[in-house]
Amino acid sequence: MPFPDLTAERRRRGWILGVVMGVVFLVLLGRLFALQIVNGEHYAELAQRNLLRPDPIPALRGNIFDRSGRLLAGNHISLDLALEVGHPAYRGADDIRAAVEEVAAALEVPPEPLVERAVRHRALFAPVILAENLQPEQLGPLFERLFPIPGLRIERTPRRWYPYGSVAAHLLGHVGEVSESELAGAAADSGYCLESCVGRSGVERQYEEILRGFPGYTCVTVDAVGRKTDLFPGIPPRAPRSGLDLTLALDLRLQALADSLLLAARPEHGGAPFGGTVIALDPRNGEVLACSSVPNYDPNRFAIGLKGTEWAALQDETYPLLNRATQALYPPGSLFKVVTTLAGLDAGWLGPGTRMAASCGGGYRFGNRTFRCWRSGGHGSLDLRGAFAQSCDVYFYQLGRRLGIERLTDFAHALGLDDATGIDLPQEKTGLVPTRDWYQRKLGTAPPEGNVLNLAIGQGELLVTPAAMAACVGAVVTDGWVRQPRVALRANAPDGTVAWEAGEPRRVRQLPVTERERELLRDLLEEVVMHGTGSRAQVKDVRVGGKTGTAQNPHGGDHGLFLGVAPMEAPEIVIVAVIERAGHGGVVAAPIAQRLIEAWLVTLPAEELAAQQAEAEAQRQAQAGNESAQEDTLPPGAAAKPSRAAQRSAADRDTTGTSGRGGGEGPPPGSGPAGEPERGTPTPPARSGQAAPPAMGRNGHREKGA
Ligand SMILES: [Zn+2]
Repeated sequence: MPFPDLTAERRRRGWILGVVMGVVFLVLLGRLFALQIVNGEHYAELAQRNLLRPDPIPALRGNIFDRSGRLLAGNHISLDLALEVGHPAYRGADDIRAAVEEVAAALEVPPEPLVERAVRHRALFAPVILAENLQPEQLGPLFERLFPIPGLRIERTPRRWYPYGSVAAHLLGHVGEVSESELAGAAADSGYCLESCVGRSGVERQYEEILRGFPGYTCVTVDAVGRKTDLFPGIPPRAPRSGLDLTLALDLRLQALADSLLLAARPEHGGAPFGGTVIALDPRNGEVLACSSVPNYDPNRFAIGLKGTEWAALQDETYPLLNRATQALYPPGSLFKVVTTLAGLDAGWLGPGTRMAASCGGGYRFGNRTFRCWRSGGHGSLDLRGAFAQSCDVYFYQLGRRLGIERLTDFAHALGLDDATGIDLPQEKTGLVPTRDWYQRKLGTAPPEGNVLNLAIGQGELLVTPAAMAACVGAVVTDGWVRQPRVALRANAPDGTVAWEAGEPRRVRQLPVTERERELLRDLLEEVVMHGTGSRAQVKDVRVGGKTGTAQNPHGGDHGLFLGVAPMEAPEIVIVAVIERAGHGGVVAAPIAQRLIEAWLVTLPAEELAAQQAEAEAQRQAQAGNESAQEDTLPPGAAAKPSRAAQRSAADRDTTGTSGRGGGEGPPPGSGPAGEPERGTPTPPARSGQAAPPAMGRNGHREKGA
């Protein structure tokens, strides 16, 4: 056995030391009480001398909800195996190694990372977590086997939990444990303590300040080597303050559908899928209704600590951690014909019936080069309406040439395609519009004359993020104002009061486009879906507009793109979908937009209506009174509140008695948070894989007006 009883001699020495320490400590404690009456600041001095130490109680992170109050991110209580490395049985690193190796063998995990962590924690006088998220049925056998190891215990710790696994992973982001250097650099009142978690990406990172809360503490006395000896009654414990709850514009049902469509997307001519993204905005207010990116990942893996191989898998060449909607740059391909057309309209000489000098025979001769049309057999002679619907490259080569590179790129720049949208997500990338200035800086010369032909069809140096493209098109199909895309709508305190609101939609830029030009462009977009390359985006009884794109990609097969808008008479949703290395946008990307538009405008509202009617009917039957009618006229969001309140009261029960990290002792009985309910989340239904599809919410998603 690695931990023999202390010898009699050591016991004797320990006893003497204990008495001496005890006497010293009592003297100091007496002095401390005296000082407490006179001046509390002396506590700080004592703390500096390591005789008193605050023992942190982690705060619960705020929940994240979708627009109808469905939980997207919460907390659950994890059963963790902790080792008190400051236990007197551990005199040195070798003792700790022996104990940790034994634990690792019982857990069937590699010992080395745990040993390293345990030794580091010993230097910090903090217990170390050796295993997280243990299942209750694991505990018995584990303790039976590990019983002889001193200082081993179970802790209950709140952990971040994403009930739908990888759904909306990139938008929500993930959390990680605060690093020692971050902790050292943070101010004392920063609200971080050892093993606090910090938002590392997505909403978790963007809204870290709102979500994180502040840890509480109990005050403990420690001995000369920093080991905790007791609770110190002189300073009352401070309850942790939970983070604020954040409500997003996202609709979980639309998001889950977008995720599953992207995951199921396959290249046109077979082969393995590479990656892709979908972003759906409400063009009237910039609200982000869905934002998907694949490959994706399960953020729960970060919350419980990634294994080395898992981390390596997230670094591979498909960039699973990248939110492609805002952090990937794509050549827009034929989606850019929207811009080329607007520039032509702006120039004053282009109209829906305008024809170009050369008809399309499958290619266009310029200098000593032939620029090809995507349809090798050619389109013949087309006017703007036909060329836009069929996406004829030869028509747009000539349109671009007539515009000139300066006029075209200046116009694209004025639309803001190379600017950040200002979306409330971290590390947004900005696109590239190669203006004359850019060529000067990059090449030191004017742009080659032939470049405008490529730019006119969205190739060449042009790069955009799907988010910027969606925001710009949103302005074209509404009132000409680009609105800042917004992910979060408001934050609520645990008592339900609104602590922060995104406020009115922010209008960031007015397009240099007249109402007449916008109207014409909307007609062209609708023509694409009715009679052109975007026919796979048709939705029964809905006027859908769109534009297909197929962008050459220097790294592999063509990217398939689609831009969708609906309903055309008063657009409520703009979608940009990109399927990487998959072929024609009209084939691989348009059907995804089709499904999402149909869900948003037809299926989901119909289901909601049916659910509302069923509920109203049930209420009518339950009580003959007319109170049931009131419920149906609740304002948006109101119907979701009871469920959130219910979650909290469930959490109260769930977290009662949850001990703080670091000592095993929570606040003494009766000293818990007063007047501030502790929150948690319902118990996770399943620990692995994705949860069942979300239940239908009552309140609609279309109340948000322009
Ligand atoms: Zn053509």
